[in-house]
Amino acid sequence: MEESIIPWAGQMVTVQRKPIKNIYLKVLPPEGRILLSVPKGYSRQAIEDVLASRREWLLSRQESIRENARKPVKHEYVTGEKIQVWGKAYELVVREVAGKRARVACKGDKVLLFVPGYATKEQRQQVLHGWYRYQLERAVARERAQLESLVGQSAAEWRFRDMRTRWGTCNVQARRIWLSIHLAKQPPEAFRYVAIHELTHLWEANHGQEFKARMDRYYPGWRTVKKHMNDRADFE
Ligand SMILES: [Zn+2]
Repeated sequence: MEESIIPWAGQMVTVQRKPIKNIYLKVLPPEGRILLSVPKGYSRQAIEDVLASRREWLLSRQESIRENARKPVKHEYVTGEKIQVWGKAYELVVREVAGKRARVACKGDKVLLFVPGYATKEQRQQVLHGWYRYQLERAVARERAQLESLVGQSAAEWRFRDMRTRWGTCNVQARRIWLSIHLAKQPPEAFRYVAIHELTHLWEANHGQEFKARMDRYYPGWRTVKKHMNDRADFE
């Protein structure tokens, strides 16, 4: 792969020349950097033409990404707040515990967060993140065999982390799949979609036609699920 930076519309655009057949244009959060991947022999003029033809889309996409990045922190992690668990809204109830380990419990339509009174907002968030991670671990333990047999590939390892710009990634060589802990806020079908997407990377490294054809076979409604999850994304 060969990477270069070219000036365009008052900003720097990253261009990657790769052994691929199609052009891929992306706007990356949080700053809205433009990344363009093109087939190897692409000329500078052809690149300028691609950017010019997508100009309007690029600028509006950048605007909405930057808008999102500017949004103030929504959560304070205090009693009465609404939080999402597997696509459903729960009321958060913060209970003070003295000298005990922090923990989270789900009771009816409430999520109880037990923390010492001196816990900061960040610490309350951390405890909840640990609980979201546990939710995902359980979902994977429960469903991986079924998902792996559906796709016809199995991961050597499923891992979890606080990823805020993607729902999942797949290290094809190591056959290791990473899922964002924030996936546990989404409905179960979103978890299924992302798990199937990452497993499908064990067949196809890129998101080309072959990849999409496999996704259509393994999970026909994936496009709708994807759209909804990005609309309701909460990475806090
Ligand atoms: Zn992917």
